[in-house]
Amino acid sequence: MPELPEVETVRRELHSYIKDLKILDVSFPSGKTLRKPVNWANTPFKVINVSRWGKRLFIDLENDKHLDVSLGMTGFFRFEDSKVEDFKTHDHLCFELSNKKMLIYNDTRRFGWVEFKSSLPVTKGWDPVLSSKDEKKELVKVIKKSQKDLFSFLMDQKYIVGLGNIYVQEALFRAGLNPFKKSYKTSKEKLYLLLDEIESVILEALKYRGTTIINYRSASGSKGGFQNRLNVYGKSKKDECVVCANQLVRIKKARSVTYCSKCQK
Ligand SMILES: [Zn+2]
Repeated sequence: MPELPEVETVRRELHSYIKDLKILDVSFPSGKTLRKPVNWANTPFKVINVSRWGKRLFIDLENDKHLDVSLGMTGFFRFEDSKVEDFKTHDHLCFELSNKKMLIYNDTRRFGWVEFKSSLPVTKGWDPVLSSKDEKKELVKVIKKSQKDLFSFLMDQKYIVGLGNIYVQEALFRAGLNPFKKSYKTSKEKLYLLLDEIESVILEALKYRGTTIINYRSASGSKGGFQNRLNVYGKSKKDECVVCANQLVRIKKARSVTYCSKCQK
């Protein structure tokens, strides 16, 4: 599932490709519905900006209209020249652009959506790239009061937006924190370190244009490169910790979580 670095990579590409173009019309090649209907207003709109909050993308249009986008599990965009002759399986939306190109949204599992809105959706939570230092202080206070374990807290989009299984596990490894440690039992110093490590792993992954595990592609069709730099995510019990060479622990609950019992306390 695309997380913040993958969505931000898509945002940057979409922004550079479609800013100042007009979206003329939308068609529905597969005839299948996504999680939400598009509800396009049937009139051309110029693209002013492409923004992001957490894992959500917003294609900001003129007259304060917006396309609210979630890539879900398997959603991605691609560009095609002029009229597409042969659509691919799972091509659900086709946006006709004023430069004669087509922006196509493909989504195998159809957990994503593109929805036309008359106002920008309210954004909440802490975004590791966009939020301020003051918001970090507030977040530490909230974590200190939480009964949840650190892994569950970080996965909850109510407090921190944009993280998923990959970057949560990598940040906990870098901060030397056990995923199942109770949030309120973690010292303030360690929590600040954890938030710093979240920021640094996200920025590093952005540099590599995200992580491709199964099918993530950016809008230009390229894969991410961060999958080669993962320390714990997707590793098995047979793998060794890159720091202490101890065998990693892999626990399967609702999701598989891998960590080093020696380095992460
Ligand atoms: Zn270790």
